[in-house]
Formats: sequence, structure tokens, C-alpha cells
Amino acid sequence: MILKSRTESDELLKMRSLNTRMELTQEEKFHYFTLEKGYEGEVEFDRMTEGLQEERYIINDLLLKIKNSYFQLDTTLVSQEVIRLLDVKNFEGDFCFEKDRFYAVKSGREYKNPIIQLSKCASQFRQLLHDLKLHYLVEATVIFINPEFTLYNAQVDHPIILPNQVNRFLKSINDTSSKLNDGHKKLAQQLISLHQTKNPFTQVPNYQYGQLKKEVYCKFCRSFLVTLHNHLLVCGKCGGHETVEDAILRNVREFQLLFPERKITSTNIYEWCNVDLSKRTFCRVLKKNFTAVGKTSDSYYI
Ligand SMILES: [Zn+2]
Repeated sequence: MILKSRTESDELLKMRSLNTRMELTQEEKFHYFTLEKGYEGEVEFDRMTEGLQEERYIINDLLLKIKNSYFQLDTTLVSQEVIRLLDVKNFEGDFCFEKDRFYAVKSGREYKNPIIQLSKCASQFRQLLHDLKLHYLVEATVIFINPEFTLYNAQVDHPIILPNQVNRFLKSINDTSSKLNDGHKKLAQQLISLHQTKNPFTQVPNYQYGQLKKEVYCKFCRSFLVTLHNHLLVCGKCGGHETVEDAILRNVREFQLLFPERKITSTNIYEWCNVDLSKRTFCRVLKKNFTAVGKTSDSYYI
């Protein structure tokens, strides 16, 4: 049973938007693609765990804090006998472990060693359980999910699951019976209540309103070649279409995410969308979906 589902993080949504609306540096682009790929892998893994039988709680995307340090858990799987902390990695290509180093063979680029990272998280998690006076067995595993991933120098005792082992790993979990009691329920509720919403790990580059391209882009392929045809915005590149209202609301959400300090006014959103629609259309859509504050021309919406 999924108790906490996964959604795209604000960091990913911001980076996606910035990548469309401004020129990112190579390093920023790399960071953005890593986030996109990581999320894709997690969603793929979620799809695979959906089929788990028996009584188990699945808690996705937990950000917990102990003393003053934060740690993130991709998937926490609570079963009768054990709590599994699963870190899903979607690396693609040839990678190698060499002592504590973990790197891509072709580019030589070094990454944070996922085993060390996860083992640190697991120890923080055990500490947290200890503080909560809860006693459960905790097992941590790194799941490499991408079928195009190869790992050199993996040791048999490394807590990792390679792509061609994922199905067997899930099957072995599935084959173990599990009954949950009130203690497990309380534990899961406590973990969810301890989830931190402000993530200190995010790395979004600095951006200014003036730097960003202000126009409506296609929801599907992110091209700016969007034109208006009978109340629909149609993409000249992929042919995808969206109603005017949906497109405006999508842009309001993006504007809010990137500029939480700016007010939602028809003028601001009109300027942000910069599309062949009258200001009256913006007013109508905002009025319908938000609550207006103030009645004059400088009213804004919440
Ligand atoms: Zn398109």
C-alpha cells in the first residue's frame, strides 16, 4: 500500500522551466538532466513495486532530519520483519567502483558513491528510530534500475541490486509473507509526519525575471512554436494541443513556482505568457480559478 506518493520536486520543476526559458551552463544542464533521469528511474521503480502483494507500506520520497542534518530516502518499504531503505539509481553506461570512488568509465566523471551515501542515510535512520524508541531491523539497498547500466568491480557483499536482479529482488520480497500491526502503522505515520518540506540540498542557479524568455511553450515538447486555433494552443512542432485555460493555469503555476514573491495579476500573467490572447481572456481565467483580492485594476489573485 502506498502511503506517500512521489511527485516531481520543486527543484526538478524549476530546473525544467529554467532549461526551457534561459541558457543554462553545461554544469547546470548536467545537473538538470541528472534530476530528470533520477526521477524517471524512481517512477519506473514505483511502477515495479506497485505489484507487491501482502501487507506492506511504501513511503516514497522522505526527507528526514536528525539533529541538524538532513537525509533523503527514495523508497521506504515497511514489511513485517524489516524496514527496507531503497535508493534508486538510474545511471546509464559503464561505471566502476575503485576503493571508495564511483565513476563513469568513459568520461571519468566521479559521482558520490551511492553505497557510502546510503549507508550514511541508514545509520541516520537507525538513530532516528532509536530516538523514537522504536526497534526494527533496517536494511539498505541501492537499486541500479537502468538496463543499460554495467558495473565493474562490484563485490558480492555490496548492498546493491543490478538491473538484471531487480525482478528477482522484488520477487523475493513478494514471496515473504508480511502482516502489519498497529506498531507498523504508527511507525509509518511518524515517518510521514517527520517529512521535511524545505529541502536544503537543492541547487537551482540564480535567475532574474528579466533573463527568462516570456512566452507560452508546448506542454509536450517544450517548443515555443505555439499558435492559437479556435480556443486551442497548437504546437507547430509536435502537433500537441492544450486548451487556452489549461495553458494559462499551467503558466500561472510555473510563474508562482519561479517567482513566489510576485503577485498573480492579469497583467503579470499576460506579460509572462506573451501569447496572442487578450487581457480579458486572462482576467476571465484567473477570476474563474482563483479568488480576487481588491477590486481595482491592481487586484491580484490567490
Ligand atoms: Zn510540441
